[in-house]
Amino acid sequence: MNFDYSEKSLALQARLSAFMEDHVIPRHAAFVQETTAGSHVVSFMEDLKALAREEGLWNFFLSDLQEDEPGTPLSNVDYAPLAEIMGQLPWASEVFNCSAPDTGNMEILHMFGTPEQKERWLNPLLNGQIRSCFSMTEPDVASSDATNIETVIRRDGDEYVINGRKWFSTGAASPRCKVAILMGKTAPDNANRHEQQSMILVPLDSEGVTITRDIAVMNHHSYESHCEIAYRNVRVPVSNVLGVEGEGFSIAQARLGPGRVHHCMRSIGQAELAFRMMVDRTLERKTFGKFIHEHGMLQDKIATSRIEIDQARLLVLKAAWLIDEFGVAGARNEVAMIKVVVPQMCERVIDRAIQTFGGMGMTPDTPLPDLWTMARSLRLADGPDEVHKRSIARMEVRKAQNGPRDSYKFFTLPSRADERDIRQDSVSVGE
Ligand SMILES: Cc1cc2nc3c(=O)[nH]c(=O)nc-3n(C[C@H](O)[C@H](O)[C@H](O)COP(=O)(O)OP(=O)(O)OC[C@H]3O[C@@H](n4cnc5c(N)ncnc54)[C@H](O)[C@@H]3O)c2cc1C
Repeated sequence: MNFDYSEKSLALQARLSAFMEDHVIPRHAAFVQETTAGSHVVSFMEDLKALAREEGLWNFFLSDLQEDEPGTPLSNVDYAPLAEIMGQLPWASEVFNCSAPDTGNMEILHMFGTPEQKERWLNPLLNGQIRSCFSMTEPDVASSDATNIETVIRRDGDEYVINGRKWFSTGAASPRCKVAILMGKTAPDNANRHEQQSMILVPLDSEGVTITRDIAVMNHHSYESHCEIAYRNVRVPVSNVLGVEGEGFSIAQARLGPGRVHHCMRSIGQAELAFRMMVDRTLERKTFGKFIHEHGMLQDKIATSRIEIDQARLLVLKAAWLIDEFGVAGARNEVAMIKVVVPQMCERVIDRAIQTFGGMGMTPDTPLPDLWTMARSLRLADGPDEVHKRSIARMEVRKAQNGPRDSYKFFTLPSRADERDIRQDSVSVGE
């Protein structure tokens, strides 16, 4: 395994860090002020995006970006530190056109889109002119098993007619969000449960699309928005199917592979920020005659956090390297592992930072409550921990079933012909 960053990545890391310091981090207070009032757009975002693009800090996430597409293609290992730098602030990735859910949507449009779909949706997304959402989860069924999805996609001549209710379609409340990639069932009676689903591109201004709610997460409305959407008799041309009808399930798997790695990379940036803030705070304040960092219990928090962040980062880099070398299929186990490890690690590190800040850690005077909420959410979004653990366990069991199955047999004594009852050798108490 080789986690060395290329010269190109190292140079971009330096430029991106400087851009974050000069233009993004100083705007965080303004961002909080504008979005606390419930806005899903911020007044300075388009200017920042134009500046980032001008400086060549644009679309780093697509390793197979073509020459006529805007941005800089990078391997996953090279992209990892950049995602970490951008990920520090939950809103910063948008400045560089590298934010979820658009990145995952652009990836599947890139992989499966027809030339017309690319022209209409992918190009404006790559240019940062519009945003998109991913509409899979439904309130009425346990959606962590995607075969449960019930939204009906019925073919009627040259059109599909869509009926269903989705929720947690992240980003849909933004006026800049123009398209949903929706998963529903085109063949609910297909004996193969994994071939019942299709992905359809649904313009959000279609008749019958109603955004009924922006759902509060931990009782808090976020800038990105998590929406409930009713799709009632929505008609779109059959040419809006993404890939092949009936292959929606496998496209969802393709989408969530690199998408999960990118989420994890951004999350590590957030853990790193919380960690730095925690350590800096302990240098400033004193209790019981000592700086806070001089108390053993704080040293334990600092050391444990550093160990946990570095462990998680190494596993993420391993997953990124495996994708680069062997594709998503070759990294399936590691992608599931990081999706469990990283959000849990972030939750613990950010929680320690909150505790170390005292009461202030619970307030919007630090980004910590938002960072914690994102880490907690990520234990559900893109699949709950339990479902990823199920996949890991099933892969391990399959390996064992196909292997020699004798790992413990060397340690077991063979049965002997001269076996005797050990009670004959024992001496009774009092004898
Ligand atoms: C902030 C946020 C953003 C999101 N963004 C999007 C988005 O943009 N688009 C979208 O479509 N969805 C999105 N989601 C939804 C998310 O993907 C789902 O919530 C998640 O997949 C779980 O589905 P569910 O809520 O239906 O839970 P259910 O499927 O009802 O599962 C409930 C719980 O059951 C347990 N469970 C399930 N299976 C197993 C198992 N095999 N073994 C043991 N326990 C199990 C788990 O604890 C699980 O959390 C988002 C969610 C959040 C919180």
